[in-house]
Amino acid sequence: MSRVADTIIIGGGVVGCAAAYYLAKAGNSNVIVLEGTKSIGHGGSSRNGGGVRQSGRDVRELPYAMYGIKNLWPNLSEELGVDTEYTQKGNLRLGKTEEHLKKLNTLASNAQSVGLDVRMVDAKEVKEICPYLADDIIGASWCPTDGHANPLTTTLGYYKRSLEMGVKYYTDAPVKELRKIKGKVRQVVLNDGTVFEGESIILAAGYESREIARTVGVDIPMTRLIDEALVTEMQPHMFDIMLGTAGGDFYGHQAHHGSFVFGSDSGYEVVTDMKDPSAMETNSLTLSASCRAIMSYVPALKDAKIVRSWAGWLDNAFDGVPFISRVDEAPGLILACGFTGHGFGTAPAVGLMLSQMVAGEETVVDISALRYDRFKPIR
Ligand SMILES: Cc1cc2nc3c(=O)[nH]c(=O)nc-3n(C[C@H](O)[C@H](O)[C@H](O)COP(=O)(O)OP(=O)(O)OC[C@H]3O[C@@H](n4cnc5c(N)ncnc54)[C@H](O)[C@@H]3O)c2cc1C
Repeated sequence: MSRVADTIIIGGGVVGCAAAYYLAKAGNSNVIVLEGTKSIGHGGSSRNGGGVRQSGRDVRELPYAMYGIKNLWPNLSEELGVDTEYTQKGNLRLGKTEEHLKKLNTLASNAQSVGLDVRMVDAKEVKEICPYLADDIIGASWCPTDGHANPLTTTLGYYKRSLEMGVKYYTDAPVKELRKIKGKVRQVVLNDGTVFEGESIILAAGYESREIARTVGVDIPMTRLIDEALVTEMQPHMFDIMLGTAGGDFYGHQAHHGSFVFGSDSGYEVVTDMKDPSAMETNSLTLSASCRAIMSYVPALKDAKIVRSWAGWLDNAFDGVPFISRVDEAPGLILACGFTGHGFGTAPAVGLMLSQMVAGEETVVDISALRYDRFKPIR
């Protein structure tokens, strides 16, 4: 296969695969995707909780989160030829204390200011929306257009469709460094020294993007955190909404086949020395803490058995929103990383915008607030 393309994408997660698909859809299928592991979607993209939400987001992310939910998610299964299991039945973000409600209220007001349909509901309405929840929940934010989807089939769909349209994928192709030619980032070098070359380079390798960008002198301010997830045995159908909590104890939903999928940032970092980032383990200490939180909000699940658990790394930007940006000092390079644990729901919109950036077009919404150089020195 050729090692020269118009666009080289580093990282075969949902963001890289979606960018490849929208490039090919726009007629630019001379694209190579380089994935460091043996399988597409090996990172967060096949390990996440499937939340496709707008509520609870930073206002800088909302315009494209809302764009994707209105324009891309509804027809995605049809478009990609897979069942993404996209379900748009709303999201309750639950609170048990006045402090929780205050936090939810601020998030809801911020989101309303940019046009999101989200409002606070009291304990009675929470129970009307979802009767399976605990009696000590005193209120929630309610966003009726939020939902969830299946991350595995969605990532697979973008991969398969773009492959059919001519995109070339290399797995087992870990990128070590970028190189500039005549001042422009053009070359992508693998660990074994193989060199790929492209006009545009999209860097969508999760946290590893930081190491790769450093090779052309760009530091991306993000860190690495682990998130854990679990799936229960199949349950009778209870509800189709997505759940979250003000305190971030857990998030989750009931999948189409009946199992519940929950995720949580359960503090694994505290009980491990995290020496080996490739060891994506779960832990009985931290997962049982997540289970206690889940049972305290959804008592109907107290006897549900867990059939599997897993973990994945998050690329946490220091201010909680991603870097989707060209880089002035490194022309040719486009960053797409730092998704801070909520980049699955926005992947279709991000993939589309990346394809527009490569083509030199305006993006569907303004994302200048996500530039890599938004951090300013503290005076
Ligand atoms: C447990 C968990 C639950 C989550 N829940 C949600 C949720 O409910 N909703 C939501 O929106 N988001 C959620 N997220 C976050 C979401 O999964 C990510 O934001 C999203 O998948 C980001 O996609 P990506 O393609 O940028 O990253 P990834 O899927 O991590 O893809 C990056 C790819 O780059 C590859 N790579 C790394 N280094 C190199 C290299 N040197 N060379 C080549 N390739 C390389 C990796 O192997 C990987 O395949 C969750 C994440 C986790 C871990």
